[in-house]
Amino acid sequence: MKKTTLRSYAKLLARVGVNVKKGDEVIVVAELDQPEFVEMVVRECYRAGAARVRVEWTHQALEKIDVTYRSLKNLSTVEEVDRAKWQHRVDKLPAMLYLISEDPDGLAGMNQEKNAKAAQARYGVIKPYREAMENKYKWCIAAVAGKAWAKKMFPNDRASVAMEKLWDAILYTVRMTKSLGGEVQDGIEAWNAHNADMTARCEYLNSLDIVSLEYHASNGTDLTVGMIENGLFCGAIEQTLGGEYFNPNMPTEEVFATPKRGVAEGIVYSSKPLSYRGEIIDGFSVRFHEGKAVEVHAEKNEALLRQMIEMDEGAAYLGECALVPFHSPISQSGLTFYETLFDENASCHLALGAGYTNTVKDYDKYTLEELHAMGINDSMNHVDFMIGTEDLSVTAITKDGRRIPLFKDGDWAF
Ligand code: ZN
Ligand code: ZN
Repeated sequence: MKKTTLRSYAKLLARVGVNVKKGDEVIVVAELDQPEFVEMVVRECYRAGAARVRVEWTHQALEKIDVTYRSLKNLSTVEEVDRAKWQHRVDKLPAMLYLISEDPDGLAGMNQEKNAKAAQARYGVIKPYREAMENKYKWCIAAVAGKAWAKKMFPNDRASVAMEKLWDAILYTVRMTKSLGGEVQDGIEAWNAHNADMTARCEYLNSLDIVSLEYHASNGTDLTVGMIENGLFCGAIEQTLGGEYFNPNMPTEEVFATPKRGVAEGIVYSSKPLSYRGEIIDGFSVRFHEGKAVEVHAEKNEALLRQMIEMDEGAAYLGECALVPFHSPISQSGLTFYETLFDENASCHLALGAGYTNTVKDYDKYTLEELHAMGINDSMNHVDFMIGTEDLSVTAITKDGRRIPLFKDGDWAF
């Protein structure tokens, strides 16, 4: 991919993604295979005014080695040095830029049970730090082409060709180019327009006073999900409690809300494979009763799916309902990315696990406990899974009993 294009993309992530302002601290989390792009993005953060940019490198192979050789007890420990890092984040609220380039299946074969147990134990220590930072810092998840990921998406191409194709797909879906592999455009301008359009859709939905959503599709999906009173639909651009804007997901095509914990009835079928903890779960269904996932089946990796909903008490409850037109640009590309950041934007989806505490009117006036009591689910997990199909219909039931079609044949009905 052309360096000038990549530099513009790095600038887009710094200026629109985490929206760096003068004096900000930024932490870039990236996989070890991306030195060149990370250099670009760090430079762009400084150009936008950052006072300090740190990079935290990750490497899937090392994660596997860690889980293999460390004892469960050792793996479960959060040491003083790690706690100091978390405290630093609480004190300084650095903007977080997560760059994804990993192999979506790169942790296959790892001892997932041991890893999950250790993550559960560590979460007990980390949770108060996370809660102290919630809704206070800017963050963005975006993608960079990685070799193993490209080969998974384009198995019949040479590595270099596959990489170029993946870059084309990333840059198109993130609005840096006008079409797949096409002309480069002003990404910042394109995002301003996109953010305005998504905001308008949310405003309409928020005017309806929706109490529940009904999902129907010919694959068997037949599900009713209750919504939180005074809940808000959000999309694309978000704001911190301090009033700073950021775009948490790039790309993004979804308008989402947090469902009410304890109110979901029926069954839903997945429409795309799910990459969870570095492994693929595929061909699955989830049946809900009183809001809880009470029965799951999967053609591939059913045990991992079951483990997923048993991570903690909240992992079996819903935390997100997202509406994405079946004919979104990502869906139109016809590609499966095996990566939630993209695949969730090709399809209506639900998430099992934590809800978003900022999807309630005047959320800043409530404590976290009050927000959870209103029905925003709490969990260490938040896993999106795709349910959108070409014939999916979604109907909103409003407080005054009206039935308003939101989705018809997989696309917006308004
Ligand atoms: Zn989502
Ligand atoms: Zn989600």
